[in-house]
Amino acid sequence: MQFRASVLTLYPDMFPGPLGTSLAGRALEEGIWNLEAGNIRDFATDKHRSVDDTPAGGGAGMVLRPDVLAAALDSVADGRPMLALTPRGTPLTQARVRQLAEGEGVILLCGRFEGFDERIFEAKSLEPVSVGDYVLSGGELGAMVILDACVRLLPGVMGAASSGEEESFETGLLEYPHYTRPVEWEGRTIPEVLRSGDHAKIAAWRHERAVEDTRLRRPDLIERHGGASQAPPSGAQRRDTKAKKT
Ligand code: SAH
Repeated sequence: MQFRASVLTLYPDMFPGPLGTSLAGRALEEGIWNLEAGNIRDFATDKHRSVDDTPAGGGAGMVLRPDVLAAALDSVADGRPMLALTPRGTPLTQARVRQLAEGEGVILLCGRFEGFDERIFEAKSLEPVSVGDYVLSGGELGAMVILDACVRLLPGVMGAASSGEEESFETGLLEYPHYTRPVEWEGRTIPEVLRSGDHAKIAAWRHERAVEDTRLRRPDLIERHGGASQAPPSGAQRRDTKAKKT
């Protein structure tokens, strides 16, 4: 089954952009997924082809009109989840990405200016999604972020080696740090344990580091998933962590 992505934007020329290279680009060429970028402006009805108007109640900027957005959405709606990119949305998570990747595809609505007329969300059952706590100038880069995260999970896109199961967020923890050759570089050496060949010890060390780094950098993840209390990977005898109080 092909994963079908429809993006609605005022700048369809931005696509596929970075999604046309590397992993996602190859998968696109192979037909594992498909991408169609529609221009919201094509659904404007007045002679100036306007898609926006001034905000009700006053204030700076312009707001995308609900009637134009509705027509654009109706042109692609077919039961796939419809997501609207907005900093006011629910933050995107790897769990949501996984669900989306298991489905038939996704419809992504990209905002510009001050964003969308609020009525469109309920009228079209749009899921408001944010890609982080900062403000972009448009939803297009956010749409690319969502698609890139989904596409790499599609069957046949990543090599068997990287099923992604140990990656950041999949376990409620950030991933452990990686090292590669040279063994010594600029006076810094690869941690001894990683060169020990003792797989149980390595697994325990990795788990410890994942917990430690998550505590330090993302205490919110620990709280949300109870990640710190998770059992270490099977086969690993977990040495007691130098539990840092955060
Ligand atoms: N006035 C809005 C920001 C508009 S930014 C506010 O303060 O909430 C213009 C467009 O960029 C938005 O409509 C949205 O589609 C996109 N955008 C900006 N930041 C984003 C984010 N963090 N996540 C998802 N989309 C974002």
